[in-house]
Amino acid sequence: MRSITTLELQYAHRFFGFKGEAQYLHGHTGVLTIEVEDSVNDGVNMVFPCNEIQKTAWEVLKNFDHALVLREDDPLLPAILEVYKKQGIKDGAPHNVMKGPAFQTDLATAYPECRLVVTKETMTVEGMIKIVYDLLKDKLNIVKLTFTSGVNAASEEYKPGLHIERCPLCGIALDENGVCPKCGYKKP
Ligand SMILES: [Zn+2]
Ligand SMILES: [Zn+2]
Repeated sequence: MRSITTLELQYAHRFFGFKGEAQYLHGHTGVLTIEVEDSVNDGVNMVFPCNEIQKTAWEVLKNFDHALVLREDDPLLPAILEVYKKQGIKDGAPHNVMKGPAFQTDLATAYPECRLVVTKETMTVEGMIKIVYDLLKDKLNIVKLTFTSGVNAASEEYKPGLHIERCPLCGIALDENGVCPKCGYKKP
């Protein structure tokens, strides 16, 4: 069975070199749907608590929220960094607190201090799905991702590949010692 959750990301981007309106900088509210598959955990009668899926995903993906997403070869990138630098907000600002840990994958690098994500490929809805799967595949047993942004939508399906031991009392993943980080349950 599947547990399914959604989260929203507000971001700005553009398709550098694209022959259409999307070559101009613009913004979206993107909606990401994450589907996680496993057996039903008998103790709590759920596959996985949806708020925990959200929490795990948000920890990384909040770097995309209220962020600017630009391709690595986009000339806007140095121009914007120059403005942020002059303004003194390139390396952080007191009110920029919604920061996840900086990350770097083959597809994207996050700079949380200036709310910027630099991507290898154009950040279309398809591109976002590739980036998100790469970031979360070792944390959640993802079988499907759907990303919608305005009239655009894309989805991809995956084979479940992780074995995650779950707490029979609260449903979340046990740590490497078989202990629940939330309620303290210990596997006998
Ligand atoms: Zn767009
Ligand atoms: Zn627990």
